[in-house]
Amino acid sequence: MSVPQAPIGDDGAKEALAYGQWLFAQDCRFVIGAAQLEQVPESSLPEVAFAGRSNVGKSSLINALTGRKTLAKTSNTPGRTQQLNFFVLGERLMMADLPGYGFAQAPKAKVARWTSLAEAYLKGRPLLRRACLLIDARHGLKDVDRSIMKRLDTAAVSYQVILTKADKPSAAELSACLDQVAREIATHTAAHPEILTTSSRDGRHIAELRATLAALAAPRSPSSDQAGSAT
Ligand code: GDP
Repeated sequence: MSVPQAPIGDDGAKEALAYGQWLFAQDCRFVIGAAQLEQVPESSLPEVAFAGRSNVGKSSLINALTGRKTLAKTSNTPGRTQQLNFFVLGERLMMADLPGYGFAQAPKAKVARWTSLAEAYLKGRPLLRRACLLIDARHGLKDVDRSIMKRLDTAAVSYQVILTKADKPSAAELSACLDQVAREIATHTAAHPEILTTSSRDGRHIAELRATLAALAAPRSPSSDQAGSAT
């Protein structure tokens, strides 16, 4: 099977989509659920992270991206919920699934724990290319999201807002949500200007998100892929 090349330049939209489709069809392997910083795996792969409020649709989105029904659910079983779950995709991209934040009924200690573990991870990961900050398209940004955005700005972690559950709001509500988010991210130094509007239910912009993330992954030429070594 030929390996689509990682796209170069601005004209590569089609190639980007093809590379994203190909990469996310590759093997996705669970590496570890890290409950402490010391358990965060060493890696030489480019990395992306997924963060968002509890119930934002993060597991569903990761499963939609990888085409696996249970990948993120398996790792989100109770007891693992405060862990950072790491997956390697196609030996080219490390994906980190951060615990959901903002549980209304969470005790302060639990919130502090999210903050210290996730923040230490986010600050100390030189190969972290981007954090996907998932926001429910019905609700838009909440104060807890804003506080995470400020932390990401301070840590100089590039992040991109991904709206989830876009099948739920009306077109007018969705457009108002996009306006609100666009206005706010313009004031955040580390925020990527492009917002992706996704739905795990109807599949909208899942292919585009795959392409966006694949463009951050390690490219590999077909010949070196056959040889099994990175270029
Ligand atoms: P997580 O806690 O962030 O991992 O969220 P889940 O992926 O478990 O989703 C939380 C709830 O939202 C579940 O009931 C999902 O079925 C629902 N959900 C997730 N994604 C979508 C979506 O794109 N559209 C709709 N309508 N519901 C969704």
